[in-house]
Amino acid sequence: MKKVFKLVGLLMVVAIAAGGIYVWQAYQSFMKVEAIQYDPQLAIYLGCGNSVVLTSEDGSAALVVDTKMRAAAEIMKDKVKAKDITIVNTHDHADHVGGNSLYPQAKIISGDYTKKQWQDDAGKASRYPDITLKSGEEKVLKIGSETVHIYNTGRAHTWNDVVVYFENRKLLVTGDLVFNNMHPAMLPKSGTKVALWINVLDTLAKKYLIKTLVPGHGPVADQKALAAMKDYFVAVGDAIGNKEKQVILKEKYKNYVSFPGMFSISNSLKFIEQERKETK
Ligand SMILES: [Zn+2]
Repeated sequence: MKKVFKLVGLLMVVAIAAGGIYVWQAYQSFMKVEAIQYDPQLAIYLGCGNSVVLTSEDGSAALVVDTKMRAAAEIMKDKVKAKDITIVNTHDHADHVGGNSLYPQAKIISGDYTKKQWQDDAGKASRYPDITLKSGEEKVLKIGSETVHIYNTGRAHTWNDVVVYFENRKLLVTGDLVFNNMHPAMLPKSGTKVALWINVLDTLAKKYLIKTLVPGHGPVADQKALAAMKDYFVAVGDAIGNKEKQVILKEKYKNYVSFPGMFSISNSLKFIEQERKETK
Protein backbone atom coordinates (compact mmCIF):
# COMPACT_ATOMS: atom_id res chain seq x y z
CA MET A 1 0.00 0.00 0.00
CA LYS A 2 2.83 2.36 0.91
CA LYS A 3 4.31 1.78 -2.54
CA VAL A 4 1.03 2.85 -4.14
CA PHE A 5 0.99 6.06 -2.10
CA LYS A 6 4.59 6.74 -3.10
CA LEU A 7 3.76 6.20 -6.77
CA VAL A 8 0.67 8.44 -6.60
CA GLY A 9 2.74 11.08 -4.80
CA LEU A 10 5.45 10.90 -7.44
CA LEU A 11 2.90 11.15 -10.27
CA MET A 12 1.36 14.20 -8.61
CA VAL A 13 4.76 15.89 -8.34
CA VAL A 14 5.43 15.15 -12.02
CA ALA A 15 1.98 16.46 -13.01
CA ILE A 16 2.41 19.68 -11.00
CA ALA A 17 5.89 20.21 -12.45
CA ALA A 18 4.64 19.60 -16.01
CA GLY A 19 1.70 21.96 -15.38
CA GLY A 20 4.12 24.55 -14.02
CA ILE A 21 6.36 24.29 -17.07
CA TYR A 22 3.33 24.60 -19.37
CA VAL A 23 2.09 27.73 -17.56
CA TRP A 24 5.62 29.20 -17.54
CA GLN A 25 6.05 28.60 -21.28
CA ALA A 26 2.61 30.04 -22.03
CA TYR A 27 3.49 33.10 -19.91
CA GLN A 28 6.85 33.54 -21.67
CA SER A 29 5.25 33.39 -25.12
CA PHE A 30 2.50 35.81 -23.97
CA MET A 31 5.11 38.35 -22.79
CA LYS A 32 7.37 38.10 -25.87
CA VAL A 33 7.53 41.35 -27.88
CA GLU A 34 7.76 41.35 -31.68
CA ALA A 35 8.34 44.74 -33.35
CA ILE A 36 6.95 45.45 -36.82
CA GLN A 37 7.96 48.73 -38.51
CA TYR A 38 4.74 49.18 -40.47
CA ASP A 39 5.99 52.38 -42.17
CA PRO A 40 8.59 55.04 -41.23
CA GLN A 41 6.24 56.65 -38.69
CA LEU A 42 4.21 53.73 -37.35
CA ALA A 43 5.44 50.72 -35.38
CA ILE A 44 3.40 47.79 -34.13
CA TYR A 45 4.59 45.91 -31.03
CA LEU A 46 2.94 42.52 -30.81
CA GLY A 47 2.91 40.59 -27.56
CA CYS A 48 1.63 40.96 -23.99
CA GLY A 49 -1.20 43.26 -25.13
CA ASN A 50 -0.53 44.44 -28.69
CA SER A 51 0.53 48.11 -29.01
CA VAL A 52 0.98 50.73 -31.72
CA VAL A 53 3.28 53.77 -31.65
CA LEU A 54 2.82 56.59 -34.17
CA THR A 55 5.55 59.27 -34.24
CA SER A 56 5.14 62.61 -36.05
CA GLU A 57 7.41 63.22 -39.07
CA ASP A 58 9.52 65.72 -37.09
CA GLY A 59 9.91 63.24 -34.21
CA SER A 60 8.51 65.64 -31.59
CA ALA A 61 5.16 63.93 -30.83
CA ALA A 62 4.04 60.33 -30.39
CA LEU A 63 0.79 58.52 -29.81
CA VAL A 64 1.13 55.26 -27.90
CA VAL A 65 -1.82 52.88 -27.99
CA ASP A 66 -1.59 50.56 -24.95
CA THR A 67 1.54 50.26 -22.84
CA LYS A 68 1.87 46.51 -22.05
CA MET A 69 3.23 45.46 -18.64
CA ARG A 70 6.46 44.52 -16.86
CA ALA A 71 9.47 43.63 -19.07
CA ALA A 72 7.42 43.92 -22.29
CA ALA A 73 6.43 47.50 -21.31
CA GLU A 74 10.07 48.47 -20.77
CA ILE A 75 11.20 47.00 -24.09
CA MET A 76 8.67 49.18 -25.92
CA LYS A 77 9.24 52.32 -23.82
CA ASP A 78 12.92 52.32 -24.87
CA LYS A 79 11.82 52.79 -28.49
CA VAL A 80 9.62 55.84 -27.84
CA LYS A 81 11.88 58.90 -28.22
CA ALA A 82 9.36 61.75 -28.69
CA LYS A 83 8.95 64.35 -25.89
CA ASP A 84 5.25 65.09 -26.38
CA ILE A 85 3.48 61.76 -25.71
CA THR A 86 -0.21 60.92 -25.70
CA ILE A 87 -1.24 57.47 -24.50
CA VAL A 88 -4.53 55.84 -25.41
CA ASN A 89 -5.55 52.88 -23.26
CA THR A 90 -8.06 50.77 -25.20
CA HIS A 91 -9.27 49.37 -21.85
CA ASP A 92 -8.18 48.93 -18.26
CA HIS A 93 -6.59 45.46 -18.22
CA ALA A 94 -3.09 45.32 -16.75
CA ASP A 95 -1.49 43.91 -19.93
CA HIS A 96 -2.63 47.08 -21.77
CA VAL A 97 -2.02 49.77 -19.11
CA GLY A 98 0.77 48.31 -16.98
CA GLY A 99 3.43 50.47 -18.64
CA ASN A 100 1.61 53.82 -18.13
CA SER A 101 3.84 54.69 -15.18
CA LEU A 102 6.92 54.55 -17.46
CA TYR A 103 5.64 57.72 -19.20
CA PRO A 104 5.14 60.15 -16.29
CA GLN A 105 4.91 63.20 -18.60
CA ALA A 106 2.33 61.64 -20.95
CA LYS A 107 -1.34 62.54 -21.18
CA ILE A 108 -3.56 59.44 -20.91
CA ILE A 109 -6.88 59.05 -22.75
CA SER A 110 -9.25 56.14 -22.08
CA GLY A 111 -12.89 55.12 -21.75
CA ASP A 112 -15.11 56.25 -18.91
CA TYR A 113 -14.33 53.90 -16.01
CA THR A 114 -15.07 54.60 -12.36
CA LYS A 115 -11.91 54.81 -10.26
CA LYS A 116 -12.93 51.54 -8.60
CA GLN A 117 -13.40 49.69 -11.90
CA TRP A 118 -10.00 50.98 -13.06
CA GLN A 119 -8.22 49.92 -9.89
CA ASP A 120 -9.94 46.51 -9.76
CA ASP A 121 -8.62 45.68 -13.23
CA ALA A 122 -5.40 47.67 -13.59
CA GLY A 123 -4.24 47.52 -9.97
CA LYS A 124 -4.35 50.06 -7.12
CA ALA A 125 -1.13 51.81 -8.18
CA SER A 126 -2.18 52.30 -11.80
CA ARG A 127 -2.49 55.93 -12.92
CA TYR A 128 -6.09 56.90 -13.72
CA PRO A 129 -6.51 58.53 -17.18
CA ASP A 130 -6.35 62.32 -17.57
CA ILE A 131 -9.11 62.38 -20.19
CA THR A 132 -12.02 59.93 -20.29
CA LEU A 133 -14.38 59.69 -23.25
CA LYS A 134 -18.08 58.99 -22.77
CA SER A 135 -19.71 56.00 -24.47
CA GLY A 136 -20.21 56.85 -28.17
CA GLU A 137 -17.86 59.85 -28.00
CA GLU A 138 -15.11 60.27 -30.61
CA LYS A 139 -12.06 62.48 -30.22
CA VAL A 140 -9.96 63.45 -33.23
CA LEU A 141 -6.23 64.27 -32.89
CA LYS A 142 -3.53 65.28 -35.34
CA ILE A 143 -0.16 63.52 -34.95
CA GLY A 144 2.08 64.87 -37.71
CA SER A 145 0.19 64.37 -40.97
CA GLU A 146 -2.05 61.59 -39.58
CA THR A 147 -5.60 62.12 -38.35
CA VAL A 148 -6.35 59.85 -35.42
CA HIS A 149 -9.87 58.98 -34.29
CA ILE A 150 -10.29 57.74 -30.71
CA TYR A 151 -13.75 56.24 -30.31
CA ASN A 152 -15.47 54.92 -27.20
CA THR A 153 -17.54 51.90 -28.26
CA GLY A 154 -19.24 51.51 -24.88
CA ARG A 155 -19.44 48.27 -22.92
CA ALA A 156 -18.19 45.11 -24.66
CA HIS A 157 -14.96 43.37 -23.55
CA THR A 158 -14.93 45.63 -20.46
CA TRP A 159 -17.17 48.38 -19.04
CA ASN A 160 -15.97 50.86 -21.65
CA ASP A 161 -13.75 49.96 -24.59
CA VAL A 162 -11.96 52.39 -26.90
CA VAL A 163 -10.63 51.86 -30.44
CA VAL A 164 -8.10 53.97 -32.36
CA TYR A 165 -8.41 54.58 -36.12
CA PHE A 166 -5.58 56.02 -38.20
CA GLU A 167 -7.46 57.65 -41.06
CA ASN A 168 -4.71 58.01 -43.72
CA ARG A 169 -3.50 54.47 -43.15
CA LYS A 170 -6.99 52.93 -42.76
CA LEU A 171 -5.59 51.12 -39.75
CA LEU A 172 -7.77 50.20 -36.77
CA VAL A 173 -6.44 49.23 -33.34
CA THR A 174 -9.21 47.33 -31.58
CA GLY A 175 -7.70 46.44 -28.22
CA ASP A 176 -9.32 43.27 -26.87
CA LEU A 177 -12.48 43.70 -28.95
CA VAL A 178 -10.63 41.33 -31.31
CA PHE A 179 -8.59 38.28 -30.32
CA ASN A 180 -7.06 36.97 -33.53
CA ASN A 181 -6.71 33.20 -33.66
CA MET A 182 -7.14 33.01 -29.90
CA HIS A 183 -9.95 32.29 -27.50
CA PRO A 184 -11.10 35.63 -26.04
CA ALA A 185 -10.81 36.69 -22.41
CA MET A 186 -14.24 37.20 -20.84
CA LEU A 187 -14.32 38.45 -17.29
CA PRO A 188 -17.45 39.22 -15.26
CA LYS A 189 -15.56 41.54 -12.92
CA SER A 190 -14.44 43.66 -15.91
CA GLY A 191 -17.98 43.98 -17.23
CA THR A 192 -17.66 41.71 -20.29
CA LYS A 193 -21.00 41.54 -22.11
CA VAL A 194 -20.92 39.38 -25.24
CA ALA A 195 -24.35 40.51 -26.53
CA LEU A 196 -23.09 44.13 -26.63
CA TRP A 197 -19.64 43.06 -27.87
CA ILE A 198 -21.25 41.55 -31.00
CA ASN A 199 -23.07 44.86 -31.71
CA VAL A 200 -19.81 46.77 -31.35
CA LEU A 201 -18.10 44.49 -33.91
CA ASP A 202 -20.93 45.25 -36.37
CA THR A 203 -20.67 49.00 -35.68
CA LEU A 204 -16.91 49.05 -36.29
CA ALA A 205 -17.27 47.17 -39.58
CA LYS A 206 -19.76 49.83 -40.79
CA LYS A 207 -18.04 52.87 -39.30
CA TYR A 208 -14.50 52.46 -40.64
CA LEU A 209 -12.89 51.50 -43.91
CA ILE A 210 -10.22 49.08 -42.67
CA LYS A 211 -7.13 47.92 -44.54
CA THR A 212 -5.14 46.80 -41.50
CA LEU A 213 -6.47 45.69 -38.13
CA VAL A 214 -4.29 45.38 -35.04
CA PRO A 215 -6.09 43.13 -32.53
CA GLY A 216 -5.56 43.16 -28.77
CA HIS A 217 -3.82 39.80 -28.99
CA GLY A 218 -2.60 37.67 -31.88
CA PRO A 219 -1.15 38.60 -35.29
CA VAL A 220 -1.99 41.66 -37.41
CA ALA A 221 -5.13 41.13 -39.50
CA ASP A 222 -7.56 43.01 -41.73
CA GLN A 223 -11.30 43.87 -41.80
CA LYS A 224 -12.25 40.16 -41.82
CA ALA A 225 -11.08 39.75 -38.22
CA LEU A 226 -14.20 41.64 -37.02
CA ALA A 227 -16.53 39.12 -38.66
CA ALA A 228 -14.38 36.20 -37.45
CA MET A 229 -14.71 37.40 -33.84
CA LYS A 230 -18.48 37.77 -34.25
CA ASP A 231 -18.74 34.31 -35.86
CA TYR A 232 -16.90 32.85 -32.88
CA PHE A 233 -19.42 34.26 -30.40
CA VAL A 234 -22.38 33.22 -32.54
CA ALA A 235 -21.00 29.67 -32.97
CA VAL A 236 -20.30 29.30 -29.25
CA GLY A 237 -23.75 30.65 -28.35
CA ASP A 238 -25.35 28.27 -30.82
CA ALA A 239 -23.59 25.23 -29.30
CA ILE A 240 -24.78 25.81 -25.73
CA GLY A 241 -26.63 22.74 -24.48
CA ASN A 242 -25.92 20.78 -27.69
CA LYS A 243 -23.18 18.16 -27.35
CA GLU A 244 -22.98 17.42 -31.09
CA LYS A 245 -22.53 21.07 -31.99
CA GLN A 246 -19.90 21.38 -29.26
CA VAL A 247 -17.86 18.58 -30.86
CA ILE A 248 -17.96 20.45 -34.20
CA LEU A 249 -17.16 23.73 -32.42
CA LYS A 250 -14.12 22.27 -30.65
CA GLU A 251 -12.84 20.88 -33.95
CA LYS A 252 -13.35 24.22 -35.72
CA TYR A 253 -11.37 26.16 -33.13
CA LYS A 254 -8.82 23.50 -32.21
CA ASN A 255 -5.89 25.62 -33.47
CA TYR A 256 -6.89 28.71 -31.48
CA VAL A 257 -4.43 29.61 -28.75
CA SER A 258 -5.91 28.76 -25.35
CA PHE A 259 -4.90 29.11 -21.75
CA PRO A 260 -6.81 26.41 -19.86
CA GLY A 261 -8.99 27.83 -17.09
CA MET A 262 -8.78 31.34 -18.55
CA PHE A 263 -9.24 31.42 -22.34
CA SER A 264 -10.61 28.28 -23.89
CA ILE A 265 -13.65 26.94 -25.69
CA SER A 266 -15.12 25.57 -22.44
CA ASN A 267 -14.61 28.93 -20.75
CA SER A 268 -16.37 30.70 -23.61
CA LEU A 269 -19.29 28.24 -23.48
CA LYS A 270 -19.62 28.69 -19.73
CA PHE A 271 -19.45 32.48 -19.91
CA ILE A 272 -22.08 32.93 -22.63
CA GLU A 273 -24.40 30.41 -20.98
CA GLN A 274 -24.15 32.33 -17.71
CA GLU A 275 -24.69 35.70 -19.44
CA ARG A 276 -27.88 34.37 -21.05
CA LYS A 277 -29.20 33.11 -17.70
CA GLU A 278 -28.60 36.50 -16.14
CA THR A 279 -30.36 38.45 -18.87
CA LYS A 280 -33.45 36.21 -18.84
ZN1 LIG B 1 -8.42 42.75 -21.98
